[in-house]
Amino acid sequence: MAKTALVTGASRGIGKSIALKLGQAGYNVIVNYSGSKDKAEAVVEAIKTEGGQAEAIQCQVQDHEEVKAMIKDITDRYKAIDLVVNNAGVTQDNLLMRMKEDEWDKVVDVNLKGTFNVIQSVSRPMIRQKGGRIINISSIVGSIGNAGQTNYVASKAGIDGITKSVARELAPKGITVNSVSPGFIESDMTDILSDEVKGKMLEQIPLRFFGDAEDIAETVMFLASDKARYITGQTIHVNGGMYMG
Ligand code: NDP
Repeated sequence: MAKTALVTGASRGIGKSIALKLGQAGYNVIVNYSGSKDKAEAVVEAIKTEGGQAEAIQCQVQDHEEVKAMIKDITDRYKAIDLVVNNAGVTQDNLLMRMKEDEWDKVVDVNLKGTFNVIQSVSRPMIRQKGGRIINISSIVGSIGNAGQTNYVASKAGIDGITKSVARELAPKGITVNSVSPGFIESDMTDILSDEVKGKMLEQIPLRFFGDAEDIAETVMFLASDKARYITGQTIHVNGGMYMG
C-alpha cells in the first residue's frame, strides 16, 4: 500500500520540491499551504501528471485546532500517516531594537508552534502505527545566529531543540525525528535579498554556489527512506560548507 506523507508549506520553494519528489517516489502526498491555493493545486496537478497521487489542504500550521482537524481528516481517509515534513516557514526581519511584538509572535507562531502542533497531532497515529518519520526543516541561522533575524533564529534553533527532545520520546515507538538545516537556498524567501547581501553570502560559502530546493529535497528523501533507519535526533546541515557543525 502506498505510504502517505504530509508536507507543510508545499505550494512553493523547498516544500514544493519535496512534495514533487515524494510524489515520484509513490507517496500519497498532502500538499499543505496557507494562502496560495492555485500554486498548491498546480503542485498537485504536477504530481498527478507524473502518475502520482496528491491533494492540497489549506491549514494555518500555527492554529492548534486547525492542525488537529487536518491530521484527523488525513488519518481518517488514508488510514495512516507515514511521513511528515514540517517545512512551512516565514520571516519578518528587523533589528532587535526595532522588532515589533507582532513580528516576533508571527514568526515564532508559524515556525515553532506550527512545528509543535503538527508533531503533537501526528504522534498519536504514528504511535498507533508503531512507526513513522518526522522531518523538520530548520535553518543554518538557528546554529550560527543572524543579525536582524532574532525571531526567525529563535524559532529555528527551537526546531532543532524540539527535534532532539521528541526524537528521545518517540524512538521507543519506532518513530525517527530529524532536522534538515538548509544554508542559502534560492527561493521566494531569498529572492527578496539585495544583490549586495547575496554577494556577501557567497563569499562565506566554501563551495561558492547557492543551493537549490532539490538539494534539500534529496536529503529529506534519504531521511525518509529505510536507509536512514538508524538516524534520529540529528540536524543534517546542507549548506555548501557555510557552517560545519
Ligand atoms: P517560501 O517562502 O518559498 O515558501 C513558504 C511556504 O510556507 C509556502 O508554501 C507557504 O504557503 C507556507 N506557509 C507560510 N505560512 C504558513 C502557515 N501559516 N501555514 C501553512 N503554510 C504556511 O519558503 P522556502 O521554500 O524558502 O523555505 C521553506 C522552509 O525552509 C522554511 O521553513 C524556511 O525557513 C526554510 N529555510 C529556507 C532557506 C532558504 O534559503 N530558502 C534557508 C534555510 C531554511 P503559501 O504559498 O500558501 O503562502
